[in-house]
Formats: sequence, C-alpha cells, structure tokens
Amino acid sequence: MPIANPNYFTGNPLERLSEKRGDALWFAEQLAHEKACMVPFWRGRPLVEMPDGPDGQARALWLSPLARSEFVHDAPVVLLGFRDGAPYFALDASASSASAETAPFADMASYKGMRELAGILSREEVAILGQALWLLDWHRRHQFCANCGAKSQMVGGGTHRRCDGCDTDHFPRTDPVAIVLVTRGEECLLGRGVKFPPTFFSALAGFLEPGETLEECAAREVFEEVGVKVKEVRYIFSQPWPFPSSLMAGYIAETEDTTFTLDETEIAEARWVSKDEIRALLNGERRDDLNIPPPFAIAHQLLVEWVRDEDQV
Ligand SMILES: [Zn+2]
Repeated sequence: MPIANPNYFTGNPLERLSEKRGDALWFAEQLAHEKACMVPFWRGRPLVEMPDGPDGQARALWLSPLARSEFVHDAPVVLLGFRDGAPYFALDASASSASAETAPFADMASYKGMRELAGILSREEVAILGQALWLLDWHRRHQFCANCGAKSQMVGGGTHRRCDGCDTDHFPRTDPVAIVLVTRGEECLLGRGVKFPPTFFSALAGFLEPGETLEECAAREVFEEVGVKVKEVRYIFSQPWPFPSSLMAGYIAETEDTTFTLDETEIAEARWVSKDEIRALLNGERRDDLNIPPPFAIAHQLLVEWVRDEDQV
C-alpha cells in the first residue's frame, strides 16, 4: 500500500508480489497475460506521449509485451508489479542487438529523460517509471558476477541475477544518502556543490559509509562539507532516487554555529538563507543569485517541511 510521503518517486501503486517471482513459468504466463502492458526504455529514457490534449498530461506509452517480438525479442524485460490484475513490465530496448543504434517504437512517441519527466507525468507514473529505470539500469551495469567474474543471468522477473559460474545470487543495490537541511533559528544553511550551476543551492548530502548510522552520516557530512557541528538531527522522510540507485534519507538539523568553513573540493559556496527568502523561492520567485532544487528533489521538500513546521508553531 502506498504510504503518504510528499516526495516524488514514492507512492508506487503497483503490487510487487515478490514472493511469486522466482518461478520462470509463472513469469512467462504473466508476459502472455491479456492485460499485460510494457513500457520501453531507450538508453535510460522511457517512451512517453507528450501533452497535446486539453488536460496537458504527459503519459508513459504502455504497449503489449507482444510488441517486442517484432523488433527486440532478446531485450531484457523486468516485471514491475500488478495493478487491477494487470502485470506491468519495462523493457530495455537499447540492450537488444537488433536495436543497438536505432530506437524502436520512436515513431509512436518520444524517449525522454526522467528528470525532465518528473514534473510533468502523474506522480504514480513518476514512481513506476523510477522503479523501472532503477531496475533496468542495474541489470545493464551488472552483467558479470562480482564474486567470480562469469556472466550472470536475470532471474525472478528481474528481482535479481544469478551467476552462471558460481551460482551466487546478486540483488539490486541501494546506496543510502543522508541529506540534511541545517538550520539555526530562522535561517538555514544551503550549499552550492562544485558541479552545480552558479546560482543553484541545496541541502548538504553525502553517502553513508560502512559502519555508520544515517544520523551519524548526516552529522559527519555537514561537518566535513561546511565545518558546522549540529546538535540535533531529526529524521523527516526518505526518497528513492533512481539516478542511479540512491535512497535519500532526509533530515533537518539544528546548529548553534554561526560561521562555516568550506571543503572546497565539494562545496563551492554556502550561505545562510532566511525563512522569508525560502518562502518566496518556494512560491516561485526567480533570483539572479539564488535558486533552490525543483519539487521532485527531496531538498525542495525538506525546505517545504521546514517552513511548514515553523508556520504551525
Ligand atoms: Zn560467480
């Protein structure tokens, strides 16, 4: 069941039925199901119909799995889950030898990147296609066993891979990240990463290290990146982030420090930003010197939460 969460890529309506997926015969039956539908991806981009109707809603183009037999019969297919009895699949059309250079189905709709689509698809399709992107990308990058180096095969409808050489099972990897909005009263501390555009500021974030809790990671990352000590780290919510395989754990942390020291290898610039400025930016203000992440990023939702939290006091 979907659980309330303001973050994009959450609220996936599909039932995963993981317990059944190891059965190859069952998987073949689902592919042949009369209600089965499949969305093709090409080089990490799903096939979508862009808005031209009165509702202006972009939609994924769901095809019958039979459509792959015409062009890309050997392309990997993963089972995403079920909705109203219909199995939903995703196809990596660019992984077929028959279509290595030319995108199939491109005459029917357009292949678009998920960052572009996140703001214009329905939230449910953002979640479904995010799951599909994550899985297809993981399979594409994990063709060989990390234990012995032999080729591995997709099993269980794409839930995992099994090695031909040593029989080890390999499961899709998730990389946890702590993302932290540092606050001090009516101000928050935003940083601009060295790879960010000139006016783009966000919450601070970093990958979990072995042997660490997410809260320890949050405090360490803040100290490493801006030299600020946080006294309280409060968990807010999480977000699956399929670029390519992160789980973002969102925190709001309070500090008493007034100055900061940048790790210039990671952070080009940081600044204290007032709650009023954040409210204006969340309401759509565009500035020449400061902009914040779009709504599909958890950093944006942390700012919403911080402002909302305070408004309720
Ligand atoms: Zn192996």
